[in-house]
Amino acid sequence: MAEVVVVVEASAAAGVKKVTLEMLTLARTLGTPSAVVFGDLEVASRLGEFGAEKIYVAAGEDVEGYLVAPKATVVASLVERVQPAAVLLASTQEGKEIAGRLAVKLDNGLLTDAVAVESDGTATQGIFAGAATVKSKVTRGLPIITIRPNSTTPVSAPATPAVEQLTVSVSDADKLARVVERVAEKKGSRPELTEASIVVSGGRGVASADNFKLVEELADLLGGAVGASRAAVDSGFYPHQFQVGQTGKTVSPQLYVALGISGAIQHRAGMQTSKTIVAVNKDPEAPIFELADYGVVGDLFKVVPQAADEIRKR
Ligand code: FAD
Repeated sequence: MAEVVVVVEASAAAGVKKVTLEMLTLARTLGTPSAVVFGDLEVASRLGEFGAEKIYVAAGEDVEGYLVAPKATVVASLVERVQPAAVLLASTQEGKEIAGRLAVKLDNGLLTDAVAVESDGTATQGIFAGAATVKSKVTRGLPIITIRPNSTTPVSAPATPAVEQLTVSVSDADKLARVVERVAEKKGSRPELTEASIVVSGGRGVASADNFKLVEELADLLGGAVGASRAAVDSGFYPHQFQVGQTGKTVSPQLYVALGISGAIQHRAGMQTSKTIVAVNKDPEAPIFELADYGVVGDLFKVVPQAADEIRKR
């Protein structure tokens, strides 16, 4: 079976991200997964656990000290050498940028935001900010596909990967923007927003930064992450890194709880592929109810504490 190159999303702080395991699972539909790791990360065993037969490691100042351009060059030269059946990357800011540069370098087609792939390379993509899905296929060169986090459940398939150190050779043209400082995001006990299987988000209806404690409390009881609408972020209730929507993060959890969020199209763009949506809103006409699987018409300051009490009892 042909090799399918998966570009690993990982960080020294968080290790291998769940989307990488999802990509390895989807890659097995297309062929035999191999993985490209940037940096000297202790990730080999996790990748092997999910079916990577080969791990390519690209380390050193030339890739780690610069932004994404050298990474695209490394993947492009690997692709030219091994001629894989496809390349999968995560639909994250970095994954999409590498994918775009890779497609230009290789003169290949690119599909972004895929939620599923079929054995012939057909991808199901979210389009129009997630308002519709479409099935597409690359018609020029090998498929380069970015996978949206939480598209599938990672399934293990233990393999014993061979590890190959890549010789990194990047030109000065790839070194135009240098990393001058890395500041790790403060990591609390909550899961990362885009990787979480439960997300509890608050909107303008939460009414203050202080009241967001209610949203956090429910998220913690459910073991979920906290999100926010843009109106909540713009009002200073919660930091921007937690914004869900067109100009924020895209989430696709098993359960999305929307508290005091009206359900504007730009917010939906970031959460409408969630498997189950629960909305609490005091306005029965709020558009979020068109999308919700379960809706509670009521005051969130009454409903959320009651829900929290019930969960505590279980
Ligand atoms: P509102 O629309 O004001 O809704 C508040 C809701 O809370 C209401 O439905 C109200 O009935 C309910 N409520 C009030 N009090 C209570 C209570 N006590 N109990 C229960 N319910 C209550 N928005 C995003 O979220 N993410 C984005 O990424 C984003 N990007 C955008 C990009 C562009 C280019 C533009 C133009 C807009 C964007 N927006 C985005 C903004 C978007 O259009 C909406 O303005 C925003 O989503 C509204 O947020 P909200 O639902 O919290 O606030």
